[in-house]
Amino acid sequence: MSNPGSYPLPDRFDAVLAEQDAEGYRCRFAPVALSDLPDRDVLVEVRYSSLNYKDALAVTGRGKIIRQSPMVLGIDLAGRVVSSGSSRFRPGDAVVVTGQGLSETEWGGYSPWQRVRAESLIPLPPAFSLAQAMGIGTAGVTAMLSVMALERYGLAPTPRPMVVTGAGGGVGSMAVALLARLGYPVAAVTGRAALHDYLTQLGARQVLDRSALAQASPALGNERWAGGIDSVGGKTLAYLLAHTAAHGAVAACGLAGGADLPVTVFPFILRSVGLLGISSSSTPAAAQTQVWRRLARDLPASVVDSISRVEPLSRIFELAEEILAGGVRGRIILDVRA
Ligand code: NDP
Repeated sequence: MSNPGSYPLPDRFDAVLAEQDAEGYRCRFAPVALSDLPDRDVLVEVRYSSLNYKDALAVTGRGKIIRQSPMVLGIDLAGRVVSSGSSRFRPGDAVVVTGQGLSETEWGGYSPWQRVRAESLIPLPPAFSLAQAMGIGTAGVTAMLSVMALERYGLAPTPRPMVVTGAGGGVGSMAVALLARLGYPVAAVTGRAALHDYLTQLGARQVLDRSALAQASPALGNERWAGGIDSVGGKTLAYLLAHTAAHGAVAACGLAGGADLPVTVFPFILRSVGLLGISSSSTPAAAQTQVWRRLARDLPASVVDSISRVEPLSRIFELAEEILAGGVRGRIILDVRA
């Protein structure tokens, strides 16, 4: 087996492993043998992973993410192919996986080595480095899937703003940057006044306080927005729908503020407003390849750098608490070898 990376193939290495006991899943750094990795066709030398809200739910055991034990966590990974049983990939190829069951039913990216199904892998677009790929990660793929869904619904830039909630977070930051670069006027909604300059630099024309939207909404309000991307859910999503202009649409991708949806049918039957569901993890890799092409075209690598920061995987437990508390700005890239 050839090894194009700078690290020799070890017999054992540490990974973030979750194991089930009587009280649920317990998660820790634990030694894993190369021979323990699942029987999948591509061995990847993982260089970076990332921290998503969903990762934090898995790491802390607060969300039902993990479906089998033991499980190596991390829903994203980027690295280089070491060996491949698939003719689609050769040793040395730079590859990325976002979602595709990682950390649920497939071992994930919080490990310096991983075996992955070839059909889950996407060749890394040359526009991005391995670290930048994880600066994008599931959050960036989700933001771009949302943009593409809005485009399919017929939306294009107009003077009426597009609204992005959870704008200081990973999906939100990516959505603000993408929409702004595509020419949409963006209203960014955040609970953190300190992020005003950051969001303006990403391209937001307006920054709104999230408390104004997280309240009981009339069945229909004034037509404030052409559409939006929502990672918050609950009353906020209901407020967005009630204030979306006729023939507009909202892409719903998250539940950072709640999983309920207290709406009436009026936005749908009186304004033809669309509610578009987004699920990145269930988007097949072939469709994700189109998403990565769009990201390479529409999202400058320098913008990814301005949204993300690199942290060592060794800090995963404290970072997981930080993101669940809503305290992380943008994206965290995890260096799995630090
Ligand atoms: P982040 O934690 O990075 O961002 C979430 C943001 O939401 C926070 O930064 C904060 O933004 C805002 N927020 C947090 N708590 C609340 C609250 N109680 N009420 C209102 N706003 C709140 O997470 P991600 O960007 O990784 O994920 C965002 C959501 O999208 C999650 O629910 C996640 O599960 C979901 N998701 C869904 C995907 C899909 O495929 N459907 C894929 C990826 C994520 P601010 O401080 O600016 O207000």
